[in-house]
Amino acid sequence: MNERDSEIISQSLSQHNYIETLEMDSADLIILNTCSIRAKAEQKVMSMLGYLRKNKKKNPNLKICVAGCVAQQEGEALIERMPHVNLVVGTQHIYNIPKLLENKESAEKVVTALSDAYAIPRFIPEMGSAGYAAEAENSFQFSRFVTIMQGCNNYCTYCVVPYTRGREVSRNLSDIVDEVKVLVDSGVKEITLLGQNVNSYGLTNQVTIDGTPCSFPQLLQLVANVPGLERLRFTTSNPKDLSDDLMKCFRDIKSLCPQFHLPVQSGSNAILRRMNRKYTIEKYYDLVDSLRHYCPDIALTTDIIVGFPGETEEDFSKTMELLEKVKFDGSFSFKYSDRPGTASINLDGKISEEEKSQRLQLFQARQNQISLEKNEQYVGKEIAVLVEFKRDAKYQCRASTNHVVHVTSTKNCVPGEIVRTRITRAGQHSLQGEILA
Ligand code: SAM
Ligand code: SF4
Repeated sequence: MNERDSEIISQSLSQHNYIETLEMDSADLIILNTCSIRAKAEQKVMSMLGYLRKNKKKNPNLKICVAGCVAQQEGEALIERMPHVNLVVGTQHIYNIPKLLENKESAEKVVTALSDAYAIPRFIPEMGSAGYAAEAENSFQFSRFVTIMQGCNNYCTYCVVPYTRGREVSRNLSDIVDEVKVLVDSGVKEITLLGQNVNSYGLTNQVTIDGTPCSFPQLLQLVANVPGLERLRFTTSNPKDLSDDLMKCFRDIKSLCPQFHLPVQSGSNAILRRMNRKYTIEKYYDLVDSLRHYCPDIALTTDIIVGFPGETEEDFSKTMELLEKVKFDGSFSFKYSDRPGTASINLDGKISEEEKSQRLQLFQARQNQISLEKNEQYVGKEIAVLVEFKRDAKYQCRASTNHVVHVTSTKNCVPGEIVRTRITRAGQHSLQGEILA
């Protein structure tokens, strides 16, 4: 989501005659688009801002802007700590950055109001023009993110998102479809729809088609109907309200890739309750069964937090058990970290850093073995991959299951093409293959 927001910032600035540079030291404007989901991400922002003090000394005209979740969270305090920062822009104001930068000395330096009535502005950049300087250096990106929602109403007790990104709001249906059309017309092959909980698309601020409410499965179908779109994905989905209708889309929509990221967070019901996740682990197992019923080849990934306050050895062993039961293709796992304003800060039973690290290591070691075992099942199989780009003598490609496939080819392989490969080797995090004639 932050990557897409960074593109939006850069695209809107290009429309105001700014030119993107890849060399930070030659820039007259530096924008840090920030994440505060875990303490570590926030620390990185602070150390980068410290480092930028010397750029400001070298170039007194340099403007430094901090946008995104850390900006939202810290507001005035950020300027007090880092007086060389010129502008602090919260999550609902990123589309306004060009205007805010035009303002003179007397203007507001901190723009972080969060409104419950926020509507995502209509902004559909033309490709080839705006904010894609990075591409000139590398190559065209055939896979793109499209935002469909902003914010979250779920208040999982560990999570800062409802506070930094505000109430959940769905983007206008026609804006989404128009953006997908622009991208596909300019050669994009794969689209990933983005929201914190895509299941509730259209529910909070009702989105309708001719007066009838539009659900996420309906949106998926409308996007899939855009002529020329080869592959469709989405992320993320909270298990608590994953519907049968959505799971059936994996059977019924041909371009919907057989890949699902379904964050579970813990294998223990006691911890899920303390996290306010509003589902049980039994319900999660049922969802996995249904997904595999509708789409037997679906690749499943998840998010896990270890060391949540009150997590006993037994709770953690249930998370390890979950690994054996589901056999995820991959997972993102994190040590719990206290975030400002969240409910879990006040929970008792905090786990020591050492214990959290040990649990994380155990979890990741087992997940890596499972990922390797699952990846080895692809060896010898023929699969279609999208050629993303060439680096050195190798092509990086992506399977519909979202596996990265490295291909060394003597044949002329063109980025943007979907080609057939045979998988020759498997690693923990990627596959190797050869192009078939
Ligand atoms: N909306 C998604 C969902 O409901 O599953 C999650 C989005 S969140 C931006 C990404 C992941 O960060 C979460 O799934 C969780 O595993 C992790 N995360 C969030 N807050 C955290 C915290 N305080 N400490 C550690 N990990 C955290
Ligand atoms: Fe955070 Fe996801 Fe829970 Fe929303 S649903 S509060 S984004 S973890």
